[in-house]
Amino acid sequence: MFRYISADYLIPVNSAPLKNGIIVLDNKDEIVNILSDEHDVPEDSSVEKYEGIIVPGFINCHCHLELSHLHGKIAKKTGLIEFIKAVARGPKYTLDLITDEIEKADEAMYNAGIVAVADIANTIHTRERKLSSKIYYHTFSEIFGFEPEIAKDAFKKGVELCEEFSPLPSSVTPHAPYSVSKELFRYIRVLEDKDRHLLSIHNQESEEENKFFRYKTGDFLDFYAFLNKNIDFFKAQARNSLRSVLPLLPQSQHILLVHNTYTTFKDINFVERYKRDVTWCLCPNANLYIEDRLPKIDLFMSSRLPIVLGTDSLASNDKLCILSEIQTLLAHFSHLPLEKSIEWATLNGAKYLGIDAMYGSLEVGKKPGLNLLTKTEGLNLTEESAVVKLN
Ligand SMILES: [Zn+2]
Repeated sequence: MFRYISADYLIPVNSAPLKNGIIVLDNKDEIVNILSDEHDVPEDSSVEKYEGIIVPGFINCHCHLELSHLHGKIAKKTGLIEFIKAVARGPKYTLDLITDEIEKADEAMYNAGIVAVADIANTIHTRERKLSSKIYYHTFSEIFGFEPEIAKDAFKKGVELCEEFSPLPSSVTPHAPYSVSKELFRYIRVLEDKDRHLLSIHNQESEEENKFFRYKTGDFLDFYAFLNKNIDFFKAQARNSLRSVLPLLPQSQHILLVHNTYTTFKDINFVERYKRDVTWCLCPNANLYIEDRLPKIDLFMSSRLPIVLGTDSLASNDKLCILSEIQTLLAHFSHLPLEKSIEWATLNGAKYLGIDAMYGSLEVGKKPGLNLLTKTEGLNLTEESAVVKLN
């Protein structure tokens, strides 16, 4: 039994938008055909016709599902360092509450048309939900340790957590330039030979990170004092954090640079010239929540490197919804074509995660999930547009 599903437009992503196109699904939700003419539908079959635009299921490339219990708990627009302090200072929550909020957030992402998530973990709390979730998860076991002497232990801890997530897809990943020592990066390079190793690092989420690397000044000095850490070993690098850290990352790994809120034209040029497999991940709503600022989207649009989207966690976002990230981008950069933002939200993320044989575009042989974007005007969204999951 086939389903014939149509809308005002389809955005297949790998090909041009199709007006009144019809997707043919088999009973396992696999796309078996895409028709451009209703006359090709067999007479004894009916077409489910919707108002709006059908796009593939969304890929959320940056999330911390384990922080879902911090929804609404952290003040907005205080800057990154105050944000991290507030997360660190927060009260203790019970495991029951943490688990409940993880389940709710997973369900909400599913209902918001998200089919795959690249998720950061510092604990094992999300494993059980991920095992039964309808969403595909890749888990990044995150490593911290800015003091060189703790590198070995920090790495071991990260590898152990990564193994605990088995059989779920997972990989070890460094947290951020300001929280991982050169020694610890050296350990991470050992993983270079592994098959399709994915690596995701928070990048230039605050201008203080650049100041700290360039001149060893700024709020990060107070931050390390707050943590009671002696950072005498660290020397000013006379260049932005990204240019200091990228050479420490392995050549064969697929590197996701997340946030990039204070990434400059020069930084982007540097990354393009450097032999690394880099994807830019933008999390606009989290950037507005924490720093009240967005990355220079135009610079990234002219980069030859792919762009993907992420929600970050409920500690820094009102909801885990990729459509909402797209709407924020379109509200601030009205010259960004919807089709481009949909490509960032779907196919590019699926390619990064290595799951594009199944997800990311409306193509025969794939089961990408179908999202209907409602209240559209032609090939544009409106402020009232919402996402309805069609399968
Ligand atoms: Zn994050």
